[in-house]
Amino acid sequence: MSHPLEPIVALQKKDRRLIKLMREIRDIPQRKSDIEAQLAGSAQKLETALDSRKHTEATLNEQELEVESLKERITKYKNQQMEATTNDQYRAFVKEIGTVEREISDLEDKEIVLMEALEKGKAIVAECEEKLNGEKAGISDELKELDDRSAELTEMLEQMKADRARAVEQCDKAIVQKYTRIMNNKRDFAVVMVEPGGHCGGCHMKLPPQVTNDARNPTKIVACNFCGRIVYNP
Ligand SMILES: [Zn+2]
Repeated sequence: MSHPLEPIVALQKKDRRLIKLMREIRDIPQRKSDIEAQLAGSAQKLETALDSRKHTEATLNEQELEVESLKERITKYKNQQMEATTNDQYRAFVKEIGTVEREISDLEDKEIVLMEALEKGKAIVAECEEKLNGEKAGISDELKELDDRSAELTEMLEQMKADRARAVEQCDKAIVQKYTRIMNNKRDFAVVMVEPGGHCGGCHMKLPPQVTNDARNPTKIVACNFCGRIVYNP
């Protein structure tokens, strides 16, 4: 006579595959939104890089205008200087012109720094654009793959559920009830083998000899004294 736990162990194998499958189906929407979130993150990075480049460009333009206006002021001073009637007046213009020339020189130093920053900013924008475009191209493929996978798994799930229903028919009703209760509680295994040395295959505690013996007996269904899982000693 075959042991009544044999079909239950077969059922458990199917249930573990079912649980794994359902978990994979359940995780697909999250995987899709992770991919979409990554794309949004890259788009945001490009936006930030563009803003930064625009800001540098605007500052650079302002400074160039400022330099132009300072140069015009120097021309004006030089014209006025030629019309100076006293040495004091002449010297005052020399001093003014010197001050403005130093301002221009300072601004031109800053312009060099800004131009370097602008070059860097342009490179960053290009890098962000390339990354985003690459991701955009990849994302639709990835999303489609996940949708296909989801459809495929859902179909498999239906088949496996039907297969499970047939497997349940082969089992003793009372044992199935007990099995289901333990499975819902433990979520990994409801039936475990007795390990060499007489340990429970679920919680690995040492089982009493009576239990390991009974676990061999097809007329008895015994549980581990510690974790409550059904123990089986084929
Ligand atoms: Zn146990």
